Amino acid sequence: MIGIGVDIGGTFVKFFVMNEKREVLEQHKVETNYTHGPEGFIAQIGDFIKQTRRKYAPEQVAVALGAPGDVDNERGLLRFNPNLKFENVDNWPMAQQIYDYTGILPALANDATLAAWGVYEAGLQHQGTNVLVVTLGTGVGGGLILNKELFQGSNGTAGEIGHIKIADLSSGPQCGCGARGCLEAFVGTIGIKRRVREAIKQNPRSILASLVAQEKDFKIEIVSRAAQQNCPVALQVWKDTGYYLGVGIANAVLLLDLDTVVLTGGVSGAAPYFMPALQQVLNQQQIKTPFERLKLVVSKDPNMGGIGAALYAIHRAKKDARSCN
Ligand SMILES: [Zn+2]
Repeated sequence: MIGIGVDIGGTFVKFFVMNEKREVLEQHKVETNYTHGPEGFIAQIGDFIKQTRRKYAPEQVAVALGAPGDVDNERGLLRFNPNLKFENVDNWPMAQQIYDYTGILPALANDATLAAWGVYEAGLQHQGTNVLVVTLGTGVGGGLILNKELFQGSNGTAGEIGHIKIADLSSGPQCGCGARGCLEAFVGTIGIKRRVREAIKQNPRSILASLVAQEKDFKIEIVSRAAQQNCPVALQVWKDTGYYLGVGIANAVLLLDLDTVVLTGGVSGAAPYFMPALQQVLNQQQIKTPFERLKLVVSKDPNMGGIGAALYAIHRAKKDARSCN
């Protein structure tokens, strides 16, 4: 069986073709097609699926689509997606439209959820029973593997760790979702940059301040570069980030008794700087057993969204086949 994983982004669509041995047979990155509206976009994905099915015939082909935003995995609807710039596509029946175009009914799930499956299958090689994968970037996403199966919750929104509240709902910093006090408002890149600006206002002579002044729209890597040069202001920014992330992860571990937490996404590259503070929060917990046994790992592969989608497509198709027999 061949799995096609489609990682849908507002700017790029990534396609991954994989086999049952978890080998990547093909990967492609193309610009999201906006020229012919939603139909053109469905055709962009559908044409790739048709081509791939022809190429690998007579192998069976299974497809999964990962999209950011609010996804109804049961009904295959993209309820809300702030990244895709199409008008009036709330409750977009994407899975059905791909089926109408190709004859293959794809699985549709949240992208962070499928990235979690990718980390579980390809990264952890199925080690761990209850796993949380946290994707750290502009947004903070999460995916859960519970009892060795992908857990999507009652509505497909399980794992939204970025929007659990760790601060006051009225006075906490504002999150990309519009609410205040979310974890993402502290450890997403926008929240980290906000704290950088506050810190350099207080410390205008710091290395961090001079590095930031050199770039109009500074990247988060600059904070790591300053930390590497032992800038105390940058080290404090990462220490605070580790603290907030630790609070969020400790809450998740207490709620679900997780055995493994994986950090992935661009910001996880700064793990050497924020990990000690994060670990300290976990060490301070009074219910000790889950934290003493917890495996905390960093996964650096940036393609887990597409790989996870392809592997989940195969996993789901095989499971469906087993339940039919
Ligand atoms: Zn939020």
